[in-house]
Amino acid sequence: MLVLVSGPHAQGTIPASPLTLITRDGRRPVPTTLLNGQEFIGLDDLASLFQLTVREDALAGGVTVSYKGRTIVASAEQAMASVNGRVVTLPAPIARAGRRLLVPIDFIPRALAPIYDSPIDLRRASRLLIVGMVRVARVAVRIDAVGPPTRATVEVTPALLVSPALDAGRVLVRVEADALDAAPPPAPAGLIEQIQIGQTTTIAIALNQRAGMARVSTTTTTESTRVTIEVPLAAPAQDTSAAPPPPSTPPPSTAPPQPTPPAAEPSTPLLGAQTARLQTMVLDPGHGGDDTGVRGPKGTLEKQITLDVARRLKTLIETRLGVRIIMTRDEDRGISLDERAAVANNSKADLFLSLHVNGAPSPSLKGTEVYYLRLDRAGEEARRSTAATELVLPAVGGGTRPIDVIPWDLAQAAHVDASSRFASMLEEELEKHGPMGPRPLQQAPMRVLSAANMPAALVEIAYLTNAEQEQSVQSADFQAGLVQAMYDPIVRFRAYLEAAPAP
Ligand SMILES: [Zn+2]
Repeated sequence: MLVLVSGPHAQGTIPASPLTLITRDGRRPVPTTLLNGQEFIGLDDLASLFQLTVREDALAGGVTVSYKGRTIVASAEQAMASVNGRVVTLPAPIARAGRRLLVPIDFIPRALAPIYDSPIDLRRASRLLIVGMVRVARVAVRIDAVGPPTRATVEVTPALLVSPALDAGRVLVRVEADALDAAPPPAPAGLIEQIQIGQTTTIAIALNQRAGMARVSTTTTTESTRVTIEVPLAAPAQDTSAAPPPPSTPPPSTAPPQPTPPAAEPSTPLLGAQTARLQTMVLDPGHGGDDTGVRGPKGTLEKQITLDVARRLKTLIETRLGVRIIMTRDEDRGISLDERAAVANNSKADLFLSLHVNGAPSPSLKGTEVYYLRLDRAGEEARRSTAATELVLPAVGGGTRPIDVIPWDLAQAAHVDASSRFASMLEEELEKHGPMGPRPLQQAPMRVLSAANMPAALVEIAYLTNAEQEQSVQSADFQAGLVQAMYDPIVRFRAYLEAAPAP
């Protein structure tokens, strides 16, 4: 018979503070229970969250949990479970509370995670249960000086995009992530009244009434993004008994400028977003759906390789660089060239990279090639006119017209110089990774590039019609190296954008 703890233990259960389940679809609380000093979770809750089948097994004296043909057999007598035949230990055996079966929460990482399709990460300190590919930022807030001025730091790991703002006496720091994994904030001190890290991806730091205009600077390293907040005392108030009142309060710009730490973005009074010039990038995996692109001799399809590589590059950039990535497609779907550029233009992206795999009648041709736009005559005239302060286009019947009527098919004209820089950086780094094609860097009148209203380039990553390259483009090693070779020039190009004079 199945022997399960019941009776006294059921009465001895104490609700614990719930875990927070985070998936791409959002977050929800998952209740847990304390029992003899151990934290348990209902097997029924796990079953509905993870689509598990639970069967009590009287003969084996335990419970069988199944997921897609994989099984966990957990014992009611011993603190262990068999996971697809492999034994793992648990802090306690299965327990029963009333009619419910409970498992220690360590059941999730030790028994369930190994058989589940998506990654599962249980973060005990922050009480997060993270399922799937979710961008979770670790956040630590500390108060460095009570002051005044009061200095605080918000450290975000990995280095993700953050947007500070000021709102009704609070400093708000929004993090471009799906969820925050935050250590408990420190006790408020100095001019800081309260620090809140709630259910959203925004950290709220409330200032007290003596606080003046907060100043914020953002520093990004390869590991983290650090937001430094300095809160001065408010300018001394006029004696209220004295009439008339002062004509105006001193503008915040009279506050002394803060020294900028090395490698930091300039310290800016709050109200605006941070100044990073590369915030959003569009990756465009070529072809898709019925449009398969080039087919290799063994049947490898260009549309699949471009999507695989784009997905890898997206993950690398988002986790390491904190740049928002928009994909023109993230599935096997056909979209037109104009739609691809429209996605980039509508999202106000700062950079556009299209990925393709080449084909040629000659099976010996191989190597990587990088393209940027070659303008036709009208485009060339448009480009020349950008040397002046605003972009104007030759108008029908002579004369020029201003930028707001620029047709999308010439939008790239204003960016050809920057595109050529980006394409050269791509070529230089790709050359270190593998063989380059007969013309490694070239200009061509490509429609997908011509409509993009931001620096844009296109990489033909290899020749799929070359048997050796058809083999290699599918390998994880080749793709990882290729993605690194495209990541490095993106980092270089970001530095180039930030060094350029403000538009
Ligand atoms: Zn193609």
